Amino acid sequence: MTEFSRRQFSAGLLGLGAVTAGLNLPAYAQGKKPKVVVIGGGAGGATAARYLAKDSKGAIDVTLIEPTKKYYTCFFSNLYLGGLRDYDSIGHTYDGLASNHGVNVVHDWAVGVDKAAKTVELGSGTKISYDRLIISPGIDMKYESVNGYSIEGQDTMPHAWKSGTQVALLKSQVENMKEGGTFVMVPPPNPYRCPPGPYERISMIAHILSKKNPTAKIIVLDPKEKFSKQALFQEGWDKNYPNMVEWIPASISGGVKNINMDTMEIETDIDTFKADAASVVPAQKAGAICDRAGITDGDWCPIVPASMQTKADPNIYVLGDASVASAMPKSGFSANSQAKVAAMAIRGELTGSKVFAPRFANTCWSLIDTNNGVKVGANYKAGEEKIEVVDKFISKTGESDDVRKTTYEESEAWYSAISADMFS
Ligand SMILES: Cc1cc2nc3c(=O)[nH]c(=O)nc-3n(C[C@H](O)[C@H](O)[C@H](O)COP(=O)(O)OP(=O)(O)OC[C@H]3O[C@@H](n4cnc5c(N)ncnc54)[C@H](O)[C@@H]3O)c2cc1C
Repeated sequence: MTEFSRRQFSAGLLGLGAVTAGLNLPAYAQGKKPKVVVIGGGAGGATAARYLAKDSKGAIDVTLIEPTKKYYTCFFSNLYLGGLRDYDSIGHTYDGLASNHGVNVVHDWAVGVDKAAKTVELGSGTKISYDRLIISPGIDMKYESVNGYSIEGQDTMPHAWKSGTQVALLKSQVENMKEGGTFVMVPPPNPYRCPPGPYERISMIAHILSKKNPTAKIIVLDPKEKFSKQALFQEGWDKNYPNMVEWIPASISGGVKNINMDTMEIETDIDTFKADAASVVPAQKAGAICDRAGITDGDWCPIVPASMQTKADPNIYVLGDASVASAMPKSGFSANSQAKVAAMAIRGELTGSKVFAPRFANTCWSLIDTNNGVKVGANYKAGEEKIEVVDKFISKTGESDDVRKTTYEESEAWYSAISADMFS
């Protein structure tokens, strides 16, 4: 190639660059390093940030926005409550994401999203621009869904549904209950974070009380008529904690009509229950930033199943509890699985890497008593409109102690694996 033709060729490329920028081609096709911002460093967000940074090997600039410096998992918080784990063992920092994968971790709240300008506004006032945005903020509480309950009431009757210090508070309230006292649990209505979670919590509270306060009672005032792994939990309560747990569905109690925080009274159609300690978990909705970003329809965020892209904006993806993931329950396992699908789709769009058919999975383990684990789970595929079940499984009633111990050991191995998959 002569000097002249080389110059012509270069000029042509420059010209093409100008044209491509005008056509709004992906950042990588314009020779720029694409930027992904992730809001929320939990099961969905931390996994997505890690996979994007790790698999793109520096080709994508990844920023994670998360206010807390240490993330305490809700998963296994019940085991801490039951005295089977210590508090530190469920806390994780973001150091590994920054030092091992170059994720830019910003400890702040995201307070707004400008979809047209493609920027996220932080509590500090700083604006960060993005090519793609992932939002995984988990849940917020609808305190008004339980008459008499309020954000102030969460210290008196902790929901403890976001982990952290609320779980420590609940644990001390249970442990300091008067001898022969009554613990009242009010589980949330569907849909909510971790379908078996309230019933594992009841099991772990029964586990403590059976040792420290064996004449105490647990009353469950459920707004639902049935619940996840019901036969397994009820069999476990009868066998391991006889006469301690009474589960009352709304069709019998009429539902909770009012809570008096001062007197610790919980009123239903059939009775007013006086609690010595209580946990009230209200109805839930997607974390508030979803509303601010304009990606909600009602309480949750509709998604495109193949990618976890929001239906509201193709540049924004939503993961985990905040999303409408159809057949998939709101769990840490689900959020982690969805994060990998979204990271692959975004990498494909921004760097041209290969995108495989999405596959999702979930297993929810619950502990009923020491070494007595049960599980429910499924594999899923992306249908046109919904995430659909491919196959599913559940533990059986009457299983041997060996099977239950193996199931518990599986859950411990899963906890180590998902923690590493999010933070290492
Ligand atoms: C008692 C209990 C037991 C559970 N047990 C299990 C279990 O055994 N297995 C399982 O798979 N799941 C379990 N779960 C469910 C699991 O914890 C959640 O489904 C999972 O954490 C959801 O992940 P996420 O990314 O949607 O939200 P989260 O993990 O809650 O992460 C959200 C993050 O976003 C941050 N955030 C929120 N708003 C903003 C904002 N505006 N700006 C910046 N950051 C923000 C929060 O600080 C938080 O760190 C349990 C839940 C509970 C309550």
